[in-house]
Amino acid sequence: MEIFKEVEPIRAFLDFKRRNSVNSIGLVPTMGALHKGHLELIKSSKKENDLTIATVYVNPTQFNNPSDLAKYPRTFEQDVALLNQAGCDILFFPSNEVMYSAANPIKIDFGGLDKILEGKFRPGHFSGVGLVVSKLFNIIQPTKAYFGQKDYQQFQVISSLVEQLMFPVKLECVPTVREEDGLAMSSRNLRLAPEMRLKALTLYNSLQLAKNLLLDGIEMTIVREKTINFFEENQVKLEYIELADRKNLISLNFVLDPKDSILLISGYVGEVRLIDNIFLV
Ligand code: AMP
Repeated sequence: MEIFKEVEPIRAFLDFKRRNSVNSIGLVPTMGALHKGHLELIKSSKKENDLTIATVYVNPTQFNNPSDLAKYPRTFEQDVALLNQAGCDILFFPSNEVMYSAANPIKIDFGGLDKILEGKFRPGHFSGVGLVVSKLFNIIQPTKAYFGQKDYQQFQVISSLVEQLMFPVKLECVPTVREEDGLAMSSRNLRLAPEMRLKALTLYNSLQLAKNLLLDGIEMTIVREKTINFFEENQVKLEYIELADRKNLISLNFVLDPKDSILLISGYVGEVRLIDNIFLV
């Protein structure tokens, strides 16, 4: 695997490849501390493209909480080994100086989609995501880019970015990869102490309980109360549980059509903030 840290060399390399029979490039943006979820995105990209590029960059502009940024796991050597094993062709691993040379990074307003759910609890988060993903699209100019369903709102925000700024890239949303007990794989799981690892399952279990209740016709106000109690029993802090329309993430109080619905949740397990979501069918 080729590793690049600067913009011009990777651009030159990709230009050369494009002139020499590489017709499709798949991009997998990550913040590193890679796990099987990330590797599933690599696998999807490899299946569908001549060349697959992973990026590992912990993007400061998407962190609203400085301690979350400082404590974000960094496992670069292991990431390189995993990407090599997965057959990734190129790794882009830029520094902050490379990615943010301008003094005042621009902000992106997604007109509402960035203010709900995650955006309500992480102000500025999606502006930072939109900015870094735009930079990566402009540097790499991928044919396709791969994102995980685990960050479903992020996928919707990036879909809006691509549509509105007319990036010539096709987006793919890859289903969430889970541990055997159901916990969504996440780099942040590395920060869970063993006794907290069990409690972390509260999120996934709540989603399953809520789904069953909603499919039985119970409305969200009742489901939310039950979820709050369940979290209290497990000593985990619930931030939100929302039923929403899959396409626009508008909040719903009951299921209109299960195939158009998604349940999203976030909470703090000790100091670690986790998110998850499931489709209702
Ligand atoms: P991150 O490194 O957490 O920014 O994630 C990079 C990409 O991997 C994002 O598109 C995530 O949605 C995706 N991802 C993270 N965890 C998982 C998972 N458990 N299953 C599938 N995709 C994931």
